[in-house]
Order: sequence, then structure tokens, then C-alpha cells
Amino acid sequence: MNLETFYTLSYGLYIVCAQSEGKKNGYVANTVFQVTAEPSQLAISCNKDNLSAKVIAKSGFFSVSVLEQGASKDILGRFGYKSGKDFDKFEETQYFETLHGVPVVTEDCISWFVCKLTKTIDVGTHLLFIGEVLDGNFLNKEKTPLTYDYYRKARHGRAPKNAPTYIKEKEIKQQAVKSAAKNVVKSGQKWICQVCGYIYNPAEGDTEAGVAPGTSFEDLPDDWVCPVCGAEKADFEPYNKG
Ligand code: FE
Repeated sequence: MNLETFYTLSYGLYIVCAQSEGKKNGYVANTVFQVTAEPSQLAISCNKDNLSAKVIAKSGFFSVSVLEQGASKDILGRFGYKSGKDFDKFEETQYFETLHGVPVVTEDCISWFVCKLTKTIDVGTHLLFIGEVLDGNFLNKEKTPLTYDYYRKARHGRAPKNAPTYIKEKEIKQQAVKSAAKNVVKSGQKWICQVCGYIYNPAEGDTEAGVAPGTSFEDLPDDWVCPVCGAEKADFEPYNKG
């Protein structure tokens, strides 16, 4: 089986949110699709390990916001790669709440839907939630929706490991990093996060993490992680453009 064939399936990128007992959560999903028109129903696939799966099941409602092509890596990192278990994703996010208390992210999104959960199907690692659309509207008609293909190709993004579309690549990447590190002689070499697209620039360092400007990527501590998405050093590769 050639696993890369899965990349030829088309997906968009969305932020799915719900709230239960005062706990708001949301995550970046690429598996959102309309399953019926009368009534209008959407289906989403959510990993059982995600806090969002529990929150959606408990509350019985969820929202879907359609991300725009130029969505910032901040919002992708916040909702795509960090867990709501130890971090409030909504603190610095633009959103509103519906009458049912469903949070709807508006930041970097072009439209939104709010759904009432009508059916849950257990598909093994994931739950397939089906919801009837109660309301929806545009936020910005002029912008283009972000597709998963564009995210991968133009923005060098990758799926987090709980995504239904995740392909295990870590071991291959770790090897590549080791061999690339040997060939890099310039201490000013920039490195790019393969998960979210963040670029580590030695000239700037990572002062928030206590890394002084002038620190080469190789000299970063082993437990240093991407400041945007939390990916490990093994998820970076040399960046030679720009
Ligand atoms: Fe990152």
C-alpha cells in the first residue's frame, strides 16, 4: 500500500468547537463534510483521545468554522497542536457564543455553522459525530477556504498525530535530521518546523524559552520545542529559502 495516495483525497481545514459545563474546547479538523441536504447535516470525525470528543458528546452541540487560506500559524498552532487539557485556547482567540453556549471561532475564518448532535458512530480510534445544522453565516465572503492540500504543499503543514489523516513519518524524519545536522556548517542556518511552518532563526534565538540570539539550532537544548505548535527538534529540517 502506498500511504501517500491518501494525500490525493481532498479536504478543507476547519475549527470545530463545543462547550460543556463551562469548559470550552476546539480543534483543527480536516474531516468535515455535508452528509444530507434535507435536513442539512454535517459529519465530523474526532479522535477519542481529544478532549473535544468528550465535550461534544456531553454538550450535544458543536460548531464548525471554515478557516481561510491565509490563516495565521498562531491559530493553527493553538487549535491544531496544543491540547485544551493544559491550555486555554480561547483566551487570545476571537469568537462568540451562540444561545446554546456553543463557542464559534471567527478569527481567520470565512464562515461558520452550528449543529445539534443527532448521531454518534464509533469507528474505532475516532467518533463520527453527525449534527443537524441549526444556523450558519459568512464572516468574509471575499476570502478563499484553506484546503488541506494547500496547507501541506504551500505552507509545509502536517497533520497532528490524532488526525484521521495522520501518516507516521517521525522515524524517517529523525534520521533525516541527524544526517542533515552533519552537513550543516553555517551556524546561521535557519530551520523550519515541518508541523506548523515556524522558522527558527539563530540570529533571533527564542528569548521566551531562554535561548539567546546567536544560538545555532544544533545548540538548542534537546527538550526545546517549537514555540508555535510544540513540535520537537526532530520535526525540524534546514530551511534555505528567503
Ligand atoms: Fe511548529
